[in-house]
Amino acid sequence: DVARMLLTMKALTQGARAISYACAHAIDMSHRAGGDRRHWQERAALLTPIAKSFSTDAGVDVASLGIQVHGGMGFIEETGAARYLRDARIAPIYEGTNGIQAIDLVTRKLPLSGGGQVKGFIAELTEIAGAVRNSNLPGFGEAAARLDAAIADLDEATAWLLKMLADDKAAEVLSGATPYQRLFGLVLTGSYLAKGALAESNDGGGVNRIALCRFTAENLLAETAALRDRVVNGAASLAAARILLA
Ligand SMILES: Cc1cc2nc3c(=O)[nH]c(=O)nc-3n(C[C@H](O)[C@H](O)[C@H](O)COP(=O)(O)OP(=O)(O)OC[C@H]3O[C@@H](n4cnc5c(N)ncnc54)[C@H](O)[C@@H]3O)c2cc1C
Repeated sequence: DVARMLLTMKALTQGARAISYACAHAIDMSHRAGGDRRHWQERAALLTPIAKSFSTDAGVDVASLGIQVHGGMGFIEETGAARYLRDARIAPIYEGTNGIQAIDLVTRKLPLSGGGQVKGFIAELTEIAGAVRNSNLPGFGEAAARLDAAIADLDEATAWLLKMLADDKAAEVLSGATPYQRLFGLVLTGSYLAKGALAESNDGGGVNRIALCRFTAENLLAETAALRDRVVNGAASLAAARILLA
């Protein structure tokens, strides 16, 4: 269990870092690219709420796991592990709460270029999964199939949200916003870990990165099916249960 926790911490940290680098790269390109400037502005706009929310949620998850890994020693103040969790807990709140980031993602970023930006991005992720399959490296295990399934979940949730936006169904869109944001971040984590592992394997190495990619794909990406279901099927029960909050 400790090995699983440590590897989850590593996967979330590297995923958050990769998403943030991708966002920073898009911002740089939006300042420099010639005819592609609009594309990169849109890519940066799409990635910004995911980079903010996924990284700050990962910070809380990782700091909490850091306590659990150390057991009772993690909980008491002397070791300092609890302080990491307390300090990390503010990040999902300030600089735009992660709930507001999710609303920004689904209502303002998904419709960019009529949905073309997000669809093009998902197509790029599909290519990464294909490259994992074509690598024929046994160390990847079932990573290609798991990535394909996770990207299909993202694709289905995206299409559903774009349809709800087109139909002016605001309650459905808003109720799916936070699970969709998490779904996107997880898919990007798996995809970017795969991309990094493939790049290093081309240089003849990458054993560690391939192992982390496989662990992420086979242990963490199964969550995307549940998140897709929450996006597509969660709105009606949420509306019905609001009676409890009156
Ligand atoms: C330590 C600390 C430092 C800070 N530093 C600064 C600073 O330097 N400068 C500065 O300007 N501010 C600063 N802030 C303020 C910070 O930006 C706000 O706390 C943050 O924007 C959240 O706003 P709020 O606290 O009013 O929460 P609220 O807006 O009341 O949000 C409460 C909950 O409701 C949700 N929510 C709110 N509105 C909606 C909506 N329309 N639809 C759905 N859900 C919604 C939120 O996602 C959240 O979960 C700081 C806060 C803290 C705690």
